Amino acid sequence: MAASEAPAFPEGPLRADLDKCVHCGLCLNACPTYRELHLEMDSPRGRIYQMVQVSNGVPITGAYMAQINLCLACRACETACPSGVPYGRLVESARAEIEQRVRRSFTTRLLRNVVFEHLLPSRANLRIAGAAMKFYQRSRLRKLARGLMPARLREVESLAPEIETPSFYRHMGSVFSAQGERKYRVALLSGCIANLCFARLNEATVRVLQANGCEVTIPRGQSCCGALHVHAGLRDPARRLARRNIDALMDGGFDAIITNAAGCGSTLKEYGELLEHDPEYADRARSFVGLVKDVNEFIASIEMNPRMGEVRATVTYQDSCHLAHGQKVRSAPRKLLAAVPGLKFKEMRMSDLCCGSAGIYNVVHTDMAMALLEKKMESINATGVDRITTANPGCMLQLRAGVKRWGRGQRVSHVVEILDEAYRNANQRV
Ligand code: SF4
Ligand code: SF4
Repeated sequence: MAASEAPAFPEGPLRADLDKCVHCGLCLNACPTYRELHLEMDSPRGRIYQMVQVSNGVPITGAYMAQINLCLACRACETACPSGVPYGRLVESARAEIEQRVRRSFTTRLLRNVVFEHLLPSRANLRIAGAAMKFYQRSRLRKLARGLMPARLREVESLAPEIETPSFYRHMGSVFSAQGERKYRVALLSGCIANLCFARLNEATVRVLQANGCEVTIPRGQSCCGALHVHAGLRDPARRLARRNIDALMDGGFDAIITNAAGCGSTLKEYGELLEHDPEYADRARSFVGLVKDVNEFIASIEMNPRMGEVRATVTYQDSCHLAHGQKVRSAPRKLLAAVPGLKFKEMRMSDLCCGSAGIYNVVHTDMAMALLEKKMESINATGVDRITTANPGCMLQLRAGVKRWGRGQRVSHVVEILDEAYRNANQRV
């Protein structure tokens, strides 16, 4: 890839953000890539140092891009930093700058264009891709293809989500009434790929919200939140998606806009920043952000319906990075799990260390993602639990892959799936 001599790009890291780093190194041990590689350049401090060099006019090199791309954008360093360095914003800006200044190979451009411009934002194209994927997954083609694949590709393939039928798309435009008295009107952002691969999780989320007095609308005009675009440095396409979601969700008079995906929630809460220079949308984006709630955060903040049946299991909770570090939501999922009768909770060691999922990171940097996952599974196995809970579909997929390879048969669930089970068990008791 060609290096560039161009001056610092306006979307690149802000000098004021870079200057907050006092090089103390307190973030180093919180950083998954530093813990694996023990190299300063693969630490938050090292990456910030390199961003400063680039902002001083040093050319963008392949090595710089590799170190910025190897970052999981997990933001654990942000939690650890005593100086308030907004590392998430820095790494996203560094990627946006690379995107603007460096011309990628034809194949990479084509692939990125197909995925980010034509697949994720388009419901029609996602449905077509989902149908093709379903055919592949349910036919003998998969077995055949797996047999022919090199081991590395087979590992990547095993991380792909299974297509669920029927998809959640059939609920677009639906309104689900509250169970009992209606206390809240909420909108559910059902995601992009999640409509195909986490349809049952989305349905469980609707049921849990209904059980807690919410009328749940699935607005038809919603789209992908743009999280994967932002993480890849594609800020303009992310802005287009943000405007689309604001138009689809803002004016419904909802008490909250709910997501069950921590990664999406983190980006939705950053729409204000993403659109801060858009004269038409800046104010609307700020109001939108005020309504966004992760489903754990929302249910923990209201008077929760206590009518639950027992769920007899021992669980641990894996903090999703974009919930714990990105949104600073840590106690809500634990509070919800503690409310479930019969459930025993065991905390794992370093529950907020990334599992290696990080959007499409596990597909692009499989070796690092697997090394992190192996350590995560060691921590989980040490607890002796039979169920693992988390708050992000991407983490669920990664943890399921971890259970297959290093686990002890643990079941992986989203926190709302446990609540759904508890509410269903209460109904069966009657
Ligand atoms: S975001 Fe995560 S991987 Fe990246 S530098 Fe910070 S702690 Fe390390
Ligand atoms: S990012 Fe924060 S914790 Fe890390 S070296 Fe800089 S000031 Fe210290």
